[in-house]
Amino acid sequence: MRTCDIGGCDKPHCALGFCQMHYRRNKLYGSPYLTDKRPRDLDSEIQILEWYGWTVTVGGCWEFSGPVDQDGYGRFSIFGRDTRAIRAAYRSWIGPLDDTALVLHSCDNPPCISPYHLRSGSHQDNVDDMFSRGRAKKAFGKRHGHVHYSLEQVNRVRHLFAAGHALPSIATEVGVPRKWAWGVATGRLRTKE
Ligand SMILES: [Zn+2]
Ligand SMILES: [Zn+2]
Repeated sequence: MRTCDIGGCDKPHCALGFCQMHYRRNKLYGSPYLTDKRPRDLDSEIQILEWYGWTVTVGGCWEFSGPVDQDGYGRFSIFGRDTRAIRAAYRSWIGPLDDTALVLHSCDNPPCISPYHLRSGSHQDNVDDMFSRGRAKKAFGKRHGHVHYSLEQVNRVRHLFAAGHALPSIATEVGVPRKWAWGVATGRLRTKE
């Protein structure tokens, strides 16, 4: 059965890649991530980041508490435009950001919006970063639908799930996408490692 494309949402597909709820939000509020709960008077990126909030981890990451996409990156809409939380964070706390520049993480943690862990760079910088951290294999694997996370992460997800923790918090704690955590926890996904 096809499910919603939104990370962490496993409801049946309805239209445009979304489930009924996300389709409705998209239609009404201009983004599947927007709900009517967000006050309408938040009119800058920094206000929106602060409204959703974040959790500071022991590693010093600021993990965004708002909506995240399939890859675990924070995402929301402002002025009808879909925006990544890391770009909003960069513009809010570091400075202007060219549309063609990428925002890179020094911590490799998708939900992190800490200005201390973000820098801007070119596509080439990103590729260099991936290779220097051994992420290239994972990223290329992902494109073909085979994500390789460590056995330790798999076991940790299953352990937390069995202990009754909620999937979004498990995903955040283990540092994996929600959809993946759900698949592993419910035994639908296996890993080769
Ligand atoms: Zn959905
Ligand atoms: Zn970080």
